[in-house]
Amino acid sequence: MNRIVVVGGSLAGVSAIDELRRRGYDGELTLVGAEPGLPYDRPPLSKAALTRLVEGEEPDDLLLRPAAWYDDRDVTLRLGVPAAGLDVAGREVLLASGDTVSYDGLVVATGSILRPSSIVDQLPSVHQLRTSSDAHGLAAALRAGGHLVVVGAGFVGMEVAATAVALGVTVTVVDIAPVPMSRAFGPALGSWFRRRHEDHGVRVLCPSGIARTEEVGRRTVFDLAGGERIVADAVLVGIGTVPAIGWLEDSGLALGDGILCAPDLTTSAPGVVAAGDVVRWDHSLFGESLRIEHWTNAVEQGGHAAATLLGEPAAFDAVPMFWTDQYDARVRCLGRLSPADDVAVLTETERSVVAVTSRAGVVRGAVCINAPRRLAAMRAAIAEQRQVEDLLSAAPAAS
Ligand SMILES: Cc1cc2nc3c(=O)[nH]c(=O)nc-3n(C[C@H](O)[C@H](O)[C@H](O)COP(=O)(O)OP(=O)(O)OC[C@H]3O[C@@H](n4cnc5c(N)ncnc54)[C@H](O)[C@@H]3O)c2cc1C
Repeated sequence: MNRIVVVGGSLAGVSAIDELRRRGYDGELTLVGAEPGLPYDRPPLSKAALTRLVEGEEPDDLLLRPAAWYDDRDVTLRLGVPAAGLDVAGREVLLASGDTVSYDGLVVATGSILRPSSIVDQLPSVHQLRTSSDAHGLAAALRAGGHLVVVGAGFVGMEVAATAVALGVTVTVVDIAPVPMSRAFGPALGSWFRRRHEDHGVRVLCPSGIARTEEVGRRTVFDLAGGERIVADAVLVGIGTVPAIGWLEDSGLALGDGILCAPDLTTSAPGVVAAGDVVRWDHSLFGESLRIEHWTNAVEQGGHAAATLLGEPAAFDAVPMFWTDQYDARVRCLGRLSPADDVAVLTETERSVVAVTSRAGVVRGAVCINAPRRLAAMRAAIAEQRQVEDLLSAAPAAS
């Protein structure tokens, strides 16, 4: 293999490059990315980096790797031009510029894009948050103060709510779900987060539907289904993402909600592997098809896909992990969190919670809030598929 192309200039793509060179691959290596700059880290965009941008500082530590890192690894950067198509028979990536890039091996790491939204279509001045450029736009709106309405109480929406209220912005969150982050956390933990946000002054309108929206001058008016009218100086729509697979539609690659991959992250085309948010694969531990949109998964799959491409295939079955930081709550989540699963709280204090999710009595996931010392045991319980009863009967360890 002499020509490897990585499409997607972000976390999973950079991790793949790292692993390819670390394993001794010394052929041509090209990174194709739609965004113009060097790959950067997204999680700070709703947290510390957003605070700094609102305060008028430019965060200088967002780059995943400095420019010299790509030079040292002899990576040809083709940034600012998206891939527009893939010819799997001819082993060529077609760029939007009309150029083609040939490969022997291809890593697809095009991640997620914002879910299309009718609110965004109707109201061109509202904000969404996926890229550094989005964060700059949102920060400029928050700098003016006033009232921020967050539509969508998912992770990104609630993180921005926490960041904005700490900056003195008045914040209202609206979602049709009964509690914040309900898809991951369910009613009990979702209610814990609702209280946390309300204690800090965020108005959480869950469940609440939006009946009508209108732009009046520089403000946005929401008529809620319950009859209340709220007026926003700035709006963030955070209703999730979808996999960035539009450019692969005519490629013949097996697609669904993501690129359909085998457990070793190979795709349906020879010489093509995939990694990160864009991947859907069957996870052996949970016996179900997953697509995970979190940082650790992108890093781990990038490395794993690189190894597979270089001829060392193995099933990717890591216990998933993600975090969210809101106020002083350091939240670490492991395994599967699904509304279909049962939730049992193992320990709870004013500041910390340890809870596990289970199905048919078998532990599948865990949430540790301000409880870092419980993480290893929870990870082992998930990997070993232990009975939730065993954990409930064990004496709670100090967190
Ligand atoms: C604001 C925010 C906060 C987050 N906070 C957390 C957190 O606290 N914890 C956590 O675990 N995760 C968090 N995440 C999620 C995490 O950042 C993602 O899971 C991770 O970035 C996924 O990496 P990826 O490389 O798979 O995809 P992405 O980061 O989506 O990158 C894909 C790249 O591919 C490019 N691309 C897309 N299509 C094409 C194309 N056709 N041609 C070329 N390039 C293309 C995109 O422009 C993008 O640069 C957060 C995400 C956001 C946006």
